[in-house]
Amino acid sequence: MEDPRRCIPRTDALLELPEVRQWEESLGRRRVRDLIRATQEAARRAEIAVEEVEPRLLEALRTSRGSTLRPVINATGVIIHTNLGRAPLGQAAVEAVVQAAGYVDLEMDLTTGSRSSRGEAARAALRHRCPEAEEVLIVNNGAAALMLAAAALAPATEIIISRGELIEIGAGFRLTELMASTGAVLREVGTTNRTHREDYASAIGPQTGILMKVHPSNYRIEGFTAEATTEELSEVAAAHQVPLVVDIGSGLLAPEPLLPAEPDAASMLQAGADVVIASGDKLLGGPQAGIVLGRSEAVRRMARHPMARAVRADKLTLAALEATLQAGQNPVQSSLHADLHSVRQRTEHLAAELDVTVVSHDGRVGGGGGAGVPLPGCALALPEAVAPALRLGEPAVLPRLAEGACLVDLRCVPVDRDAELLRALRHALGSA
Ligand SMILES: *Cc1c(COP(=O)(O)O)cnc(C)c1O
Repeated sequence: MEDPRRCIPRTDALLELPEVRQWEESLGRRRVRDLIRATQEAARRAEIAVEEVEPRLLEALRTSRGSTLRPVINATGVIIHTNLGRAPLGQAAVEAVVQAAGYVDLEMDLTTGSRSSRGEAARAALRHRCPEAEEVLIVNNGAAALMLAAAALAPATEIIISRGELIEIGAGFRLTELMASTGAVLREVGTTNRTHREDYASAIGPQTGILMKVHPSNYRIEGFTAEATTEELSEVAAAHQVPLVVDIGSGLLAPEPLLPAEPDAASMLQAGADVVIASGDKLLGGPQAGIVLGRSEAVRRMARHPMARAVRADKLTLAALEATLQAGQNPVQSSLHADLHSVRQRTEHLAAELDVTVVSHDGRVGGGGGAGVPLPGCALALPEAVAPALRLGEPAVLPRLAEGACLVDLRCVPVDRDAELLRALRHALGSA
């Protein structure tokens, strides 16, 4: 008998079909061909029947997007979810990105027609939101800012850092190794749980390039602990004319009452930090970016370093960051300050529709800071077995798996997605 796989429709035959050809303009010929090839492959591996090739291809064309990244409803209650791309952008930032996608006056003064300073508007917005900073710089991400600080401010010299602040940030990346990769030598002082002002004072000398303070954003040391304050370190640093660099991680520009232990840029600068480093896509709620705020001299030295060009922010980032800084609210702020009463009402409404229970559930800030700080709230409790169907549904929903249940927390779900979420939950419950 003839192998049915020999009857798989040929590429040129499929390309001839009007239903296929109509997609060439929007998706591009290459993408259409790739989808054809993938569908034929599936038939060759006998994953689909030969008769299914054509309908599967049409379905693939219909659902194909420029990017294969799938939007996910974050029902984990974790606000800055690293695996979901950290901070979701607010509406104003999204619109700014779309605008900036075309030609824009990024480095052009339209009044005179001559060249202007790249990213000046975003820097101005940052200075406006944090007047304590004399100068600011925007780079690719927090890690890039840290590397640039080490390269520009501690060339072939020592960086003094506490043994309690030697951090691995995720996926095996260690901030210490990052700084050392620039040629700086890390001089560890103190112990894991306790480091004092004197530890820094006795290590500092002519060989010191930077006094470094890093906020342990993703873990907490409890019990018998001590750390030198930024004020103390700034005195030690100033006495030796060495810059004090503080990596706060999360990107709060001013104190956040809900997270009293979280450092912010304004307070650190007031306490005497020369340079503050933070991420744009954590608690600030903006795009991935590295934010540098501080004294003119130190920040300008960083901006002039050759490596600054390798880590500069792109126009989409600058547009989104400027818009985020101008906007009053953003999704991260809304989730952090979510009104418990309204979240509970929405949750109870869904629970009644689905006939499931509501349990107490603490949300979290997540990788962006507030390590260990619970954000009291509630969640729908579904059977654990529903989780895969939720993740693979349309739209994809990521729940939190805990204590043998599949928890759906609405803290980070925009109100206008509730109806969609309900449909996805109903569908997953029905198919599990
Ligand atoms: C997140 C973080 C970084 C890294 O910032 P990215 O923007 O992810 O590169 C550096 N330091 C601290 C303390 C952090 O929390």
